Amino acid sequence: MSLPSLLEAEIRAQGPLDIGRFMGVALGHPKFGYYNTRDPFGEAGDFTTAPEISQMFGELLGAWVAQIWFDLRMPRNTALLECGPGRGTLMADALRATKNVKGFHESLEITLMEMSPVLREKQREALSGYSLRWIKTWDELSGEGPLIVLANEFLDALPVRHIEYAGGQWLERAVGLSRDGGFDFVHTPAQDDLLGLIPPGLPAPKEGDMLELSPDRAAFMAKVFALLKRRGGAALFLDYGYVASAYGETLQALYRHEFCPVLERVGEADLTAHVDFAALGRAAGEAGITAHGPLTQGAFLKVLGIEARAAMLIKAASPVQAETVRKALHRLTHSDEMGTLFKVMGFSYGVSKNIAGFGT
Ligand code: SAH
Repeated sequence: MSLPSLLEAEIRAQGPLDIGRFMGVALGHPKFGYYNTRDPFGEAGDFTTAPEISQMFGELLGAWVAQIWFDLRMPRNTALLECGPGRGTLMADALRATKNVKGFHESLEITLMEMSPVLREKQREALSGYSLRWIKTWDELSGEGPLIVLANEFLDALPVRHIEYAGGQWLERAVGLSRDGGFDFVHTPAQDDLLGLIPPGLPAPKEGDMLELSPDRAAFMAKVFALLKRRGGAALFLDYGYVASAYGETLQALYRHEFCPVLERVGEADLTAHVDFAALGRAAGEAGITAHGPLTQGAFLKVLGIEARAAMLIKAASPVQAETVRKALHRLTHSDEMGTLFKVMGFSYGVSKNIAGFGT
C-alpha cells in the first residue's frame, strides 16, 4: 500500500475527495502522511522555517511570551502551548532566552501539539531537561490557568477547500482520478456549510473565480478563542498569508525547496496554503476576542528588537559568525525575503489592551 493507492481506492469507493480531505490525508495519514514519515526541515529537507534560520527568532518570541506572562501578573499555572513545533527549535530558543526570568519557567506547563511521532522525538531531544506534555487535539489540553499559544507555520498546514464560480453558481473543486492513472481536479456540488464561509464584502464573482476556504482552520481558531475566553491569555500566529480576503487560491506543494504540482508526489511533498488573516480577525471579533495586527513579520520582529539582538550577537562573534547573523536578520525581516510575505497576528483576552510586539 502507498498513499496514492489509498487515496485512489477511497475515490473509487466514494467519489471525488474534497481538497481538504486530500490535503489532510497527504500530510497527516498516521502511517504514510508527509509529516509522520520524515523531518522535512532544512537544506536536506523540503523547506526552511524561521526558527531554523536563526536563534534570534525563538529568543524574541520567548521575550514576547515572558512579557505576556508579566501582563497576566505572573500566574503560577500558565500553559505555554506550541502548535506544530517542528524540531522544537523555537521552544528551545525561547526557553533558553528566558531562563533568568525569575519564577517564569517554574510557572509554565509546557505543552506541544504535535501529530508526528518523528517530530515528537526531535522535540524530546531539543527540549531535554524540560518537563513536557504532548497533545494532538485541544480536548487533551489539561489545566485551568491562563494560556499562551505560539504557532509558526502551523495554520498553513491545516486543510483548505476550494470553490469555483462556474455557470453562474459555486461548485466545489475536488480531486478525482485522471484517465492516465493520476489525480485530477473535478467539480462537485458545493454544500451550504462550506458556502457559509464565503467572506463578506467581496465583489460579485465572475466566471472562473476561485475561493479558498478552510473549515478546519475556522474550527481550530474557534477552539483557541473559546479557551482564551475561559482561561485568559494570548496567542500568536505567524505564517505566510494575506491581510484582505480575496478571490484566488494559494495551495502549493514544495519538494526539496522547489514547487511541484499539488496532485503529484502525494505524501512526499509538503502541502500548504496561505492564511487568510482577515478571516481570523473577523472570527476573533465575533468571538469577543481582541485581535492584534496582522503586522508583517519584518515589522513585528523589529518592534521586538531583532536589530538590537543581532547587533549584540555580532559584537561577540567571529567575522564568519557575524556574517551569518547579518544574513539571518536580512532573511527574517527584509521584504525580498520573509519580511513581508509572512504576517503575525496576536489574539488576547483578559490581558492588557496592547500586547507586546504590536506597537503603541
Ligand atoms: N513550527 C515549526 C514547524 C512548522 S511545520 C517551525 O517553524 O519550524 C508544521 C508543524 O505542524 C509540524 O511539526 C507538523 O508535524 C505539525 N502539524 C501539522 N498539522 C498538524 C495537525 N493537524 N495537528 C498537529 N500537528 C500538526
